[in-house]
Amino acid sequence: AKVLVTGANGFLAVWVVRTLLEQGYSVRGTVRSAKKGEHVRALFGSYGNKLELVVVEDITKAGAFDEAVKGVDVVEHTASPWRYSASEPNDFIIPAVKGTVGVLESIRKHAPSVKRVIITASMASVLESFGKNDPVIRYDETSWNNSVLVELEKNPLKLLPVQWYCASKMLAEKAAWDFVEEHKSEINFDLTVLNPPYIYGPVLDEVPSPEKLNQSLSELYNIMIQSDATTPYPEYANGWIDVRDAALAHVLAASTPAAGGNRFIIAAGTYHFQEILDTANAINPPIVRNLVKGTPGTGREVSANWTLDTSKVERVLGIKWRPLQETIADTLADWKQKGFAA
Ligand code: NDP
Repeated sequence: AKVLVTGANGFLAVWVVRTLLEQGYSVRGTVRSAKKGEHVRALFGSYGNKLELVVVEDITKAGAFDEAVKGVDVVEHTASPWRYSASEPNDFIIPAVKGTVGVLESIRKHAPSVKRVIITASMASVLESFGKNDPVIRYDETSWNNSVLVELEKNPLKLLPVQWYCASKMLAEKAAWDFVEEHKSEINFDLTVLNPPYIYGPVLDEVPSPEKLNQSLSELYNIMIQSDATTPYPEYANGWIDVRDAALAHVLAASTPAAGGNRFIIAAGTYHFQEILDTANAINPPIVRNLVKGTPGTGREVSANWTLDTSKVERVLGIKWRPLQETIADTLADWKQKGFAA
């Protein structure tokens, strides 16, 4: 089968491409310029014409994906902005929503061969208070971040960039579900939405320096390597998943008939940043010297306050998660190998 992966040069997407190729799929990836495709091409040179790269310069343009979708069986839509260098909510919202609706519209019009569309959403459209300690104890697939849309409506100028991003993921996911409902009599595909929390792990995409790490790894890097003992790290718990498991979930979502019509929280667990520091500092022999220490032993209480119920995806896709120790060790080894940490 042939799979279209949008934003194929991204941190997650390169792992999705690799996992698809390893499992025998043909892949067509979209990138914003030929230059951005060069690294991906070189990584997977041995797969020859099983990997095809096409340029979609501007995903917000009507019909942008009309050519790219033709003849594929599955579409994995991962392209979406997440960089806090954005200057206003629409820097996130317009590409997130127009990119999502645009790819669905191109499939409806030009690709009757597509049977399954998988959209990379986020915990940002699940957790009601992303980036804060949360009194709610348990989240599952019935949870929606409605409050960020209320805030966006009420007071867009007061929102923080993290909330712009959450709103963009929430609006894009809702638009996707609305699209399939509205067009159900004219489409041949069903929709699977994956909602990951912070994604960590080794990097395959082109990252020449730490400043070029994607948003989730750059936050992790700042906490583990960059900050000094006086820099406070975020005082809230979060969810996490290994990039290799997130990629595998994207591939299983393509091959598992029962995944259609579902959204899935894909997460290995919850953590507090202190637990990451403790995990990293416990690695023996150490991979990286001079890791930030924080206040050892104080993290678990915070992260144990709330949980993510991932039983649905574990049941339907039969997936198991790498433990935090492995993800952190492999992330550090990667940074060391790249010269980002000593
Ligand atoms: P990256 O920043 O590494 O990659 C993002 C991809 O999307 C790149 O191909 C990028 O292209 C493309 N992209 C970004 N902005 C635009 C835009 N305005 N127009 C067209 N293409 C764009 O991201 P990740 O791999 O971290 O994230 C991939 C997906 O996973 C995203 O949908 C993200 O929201 C979601 N996600 C990520 C999480 C994480 O922790 N990393 C957590 C939860 C969800 P280019 O290189 O040209 O900029």
